[in-house]
Parts: sequence; C-alpha cells; structure tokens
Amino acid sequence: MSKTDELRSRAERALVGGVSSGWNYLLDGPTFVGNAAGPYLWDVDGQRHIDFIMGWGSLLLGHDPPVLRRALMQALENGFLFGYETPLHVELAQTLCSQIPGVARVRLANSGTEATLHALRIARAWSGRTRVLKFEGHFHGLHDQLLYATDSSPRLGALNADGSIEPVAGSAGVPEALAPLCVIAPWNDVEAFQRIASAHRHDLAAVILEPIAFNMGCVPPVPKFLETIRAWTADAGVALIFDEVLTGFRVAFAGSQELYSVTPDLVCFGKALGCGMPIAAVGGRADMMETLAPRGPVEMSGTNTGRVLTVAGTVAALRELSQPGFYAHLNELTDVFVSGMKELLARHNVPAYVTGLGGRIAIYFGMTEAPLNLRAIDAGWNRQFHTAFYARARLKGLYGFLNPLPWSPEAITLSVAHSRDVLNSTLSRVDDVLHEVPYRHAD
Ligand code: PMP
Repeated sequence: MSKTDELRSRAERALVGGVSSGWNYLLDGPTFVGNAAGPYLWDVDGQRHIDFIMGWGSLLLGHDPPVLRRALMQALENGFLFGYETPLHVELAQTLCSQIPGVARVRLANSGTEATLHALRIARAWSGRTRVLKFEGHFHGLHDQLLYATDSSPRLGALNADGSIEPVAGSAGVPEALAPLCVIAPWNDVEAFQRIASAHRHDLAAVILEPIAFNMGCVPPVPKFLETIRAWTADAGVALIFDEVLTGFRVAFAGSQELYSVTPDLVCFGKALGCGMPIAAVGGRADMMETLAPRGPVEMSGTNTGRVLTVAGTVAALRELSQPGFYAHLNELTDVFVSGMKELLARHNVPAYVTGLGGRIAIYFGMTEAPLNLRAIDAGWNRQFHTAFYARARLKGLYGFLNPLPWSPEAITLSVAHSRDVLNSTLSRVDDVLHEVPYRHAD
C-alpha cells in the first residue's frame, strides 16, 4: 500500500472527504504532499509533480521562495501574533496606497472571501442601499452575499425579460431570502449592463466584478466595457468594486487598474498580494474606507487579521514583485507558453482557443474564438475531451493542469518559478498526452 493510499483511508475517516478545503478534492481525490519548492510538489510517496494550481493563484513566486522564507524566519524571532500594528504594517499599507490608483486607505483581512464581504458592507453603509449587481461566472468567495451564478451553481439561471439572469445559489444552505439582493448580468454585454443597471439605479449599493474574469478561464473585458460601468456607477452614485483577488499583483503590480486605466471606488486583494501568506485587503476612496470603525460605524476586524508573521511575509513578497522587470519576465513566460500550446494544438489538429495574462492561461478545447461570457463557454467548450485530457495529463506529472469545473475550464496557473525549461518539459508532456488521447468532438 502506498503512503498516499494509507493516508487517504485514514484521512477519509477524519477529514470530510479526506480534504481540509473542499476544492482540494480534484477529480482523482485528495493529494498528500510531502514538500514543495519552486514549480514542484513532491507527494508523500516521493513522486514529483509540476504544480499548475499554485496555491489557487497565490504562489506567484513559486513554492517556498527563499526571500519569503528568510523574512518569515526573521520575523519569527520577535513573535507571530501581536494583535497590534508594527512598522511592517505601516510599510505594507503605504506601499498599497502609493502604488495602487484609487487606494487612499486600506484595511487588512485574511481571505478574499472576507475582503469582498466587507467591501460590500462598506458600499451598503456608504450608499444606504442594499442590492448588488454581479456578473455571471464571476466568483467573489463563498459567503452568502455574492454566491450566485458561479461555477458551483447547480444550473445556469433562467434569463429574465430585461436580460438579467436568475440568481442560482452556488451552495445549499444559502438563504433564499438573500437571492433578490443580487442582480446578475451577463459579462461583456454593454447594452445588457446599461438596461439592467438602469432598472435598479436607485437600489444598487454596488457593482462588483473581476476585471478579467479568471474564474471562467481568462475572459478580459471587451473594449469600453469597464469604462461604461465606471461612468454609469459614478453617475448613479453606486460603488464600483473591483475584485482583484486573482488579478491583483498578477497582471501588473497595480492589477487590472494598471492594465485598463479604470479606477474603481473599492478594490479587494488577496492571493498574489501575499504570495502564499494568508492575507487579503480592501482598499479604496477615503470617504468610503472611513466608514470603517473606528472612524465610522462599519465593523471589520478579526482575531487573525494582520498577524505580524503574515505581514512580514507580504512585505517581503511585495519587495520582490517591485523588482524592475518582474512583470516583463512573467509576461514573457506566459507568452512563450501560450504560443507553444497554440503550435502544439494546431499540430495535433485540436480546435482550441488559448489565451493568458499574468501567468493565468486558459485553453478552451472545441472553441476557436475568444468566448465573451459563461454562456458562450458552456455552449462551445468540449467538456468531455477536456476531462479526458486532464486525467491523462495528471498521469504525466502535470498537477491540476486545466482542472475542469462544471461550467468552464479552470485556468492553468504559472509562477515565475515555471522557467522556460519547466514550460518546455510541460509542452513535451502535453504532446505525449495528445498522442495518447486524440481529439474527439463532443457527442
Ligand atoms: N475573489 C476571487 C476573484 C477569487 O478568485 C477568490 C478565490 N478563488 C475569492 C474572491 C475568494 O478568495 P479566498 O479563497 O481567499 O477566500
């Protein structure tokens, strides 16, 4: 019996499903890792895998980067939870306020879920309104307020006459009473947005979006889409929240704001902000942020928030991400991989649309044009081939390579530790997979 099998049977009797976080259960069950470094995971049986999950997007510097390790060891000399601020907290906050447009003040949190929950609370308190408009296929964490029309929703919602979409909850146990607070619009449809938002002009507190829809692969905004939403929300007095939990510090140091020159009122960060540290943040306009206690009446606090160890690691990570050429290098790796994949897929006559930004690379098997939204992906994506491909890639040591989700493919996540050699080795393994699993059109 392998160590993995032995651990699986023990784990399943204690951890629900053998996992400590539901989405760690990939198609072939829980994985038990011994150690990890750079782009690699070694399982408890000593098998090496190239990791394409990378801490669900957090590990932009790779696993166990020496700069973070050193910072953590040094910080540990002084303690790990003070529950109070340190000079490092001030350095972190000043970096965010000086480098990110639209961030005049910042408050820390522990996860992306916490960040979007509180950003919405701030928007509601600031505006005195309740409803929120979100886009189909965008994910903002698992809290009850925004968990509609996501990849874990059991079905796609019915279309309403005005083009809005029925809010189908992404989990059992979400109170039905909350659903009407969430107005769902299709992504990348300027007219639908204007129509739907205008119908709710006087009761919307916020519009929240992933500026690049990474939770359905990689679906950037069509030209003028973000600008239209920005202009409309400013005019209507509705808070515009960018959920940059995945895009932040990945597509550029200042995230999508830097790419598209559109500044939201509030922004949520997580994942690559800490490159593996359990940290997140909400930032934004001073008047909105100062609704937070102790300045205002909105509560946002937590036992584990701003732990000094986490903050020390994050400061070290941001120093590394600020190095000249960091993003040019990441983009080069992304482009090399995207063009290598395109060439390979063409050679194997696999119809596919491949695209990527900031090391998040989406491959839509069966599609030849850029999808604009979740329904286009659902209609065109060859889920069957994708799933067969994924299972075979897993056997070639490609871990979590294009994890298939119910309504769209998950993107592949690279880090700067995925060197050209690692990417070439990946392409050659994908070549083998495509020889062994030839493309088949969906039934
Ligand atoms: N927002 C976005 C855009 C995300 O991708 C995620 C996580 N995948 C979250 C929020 C939630 O973050 P966390 O898992 O840290 O709670």
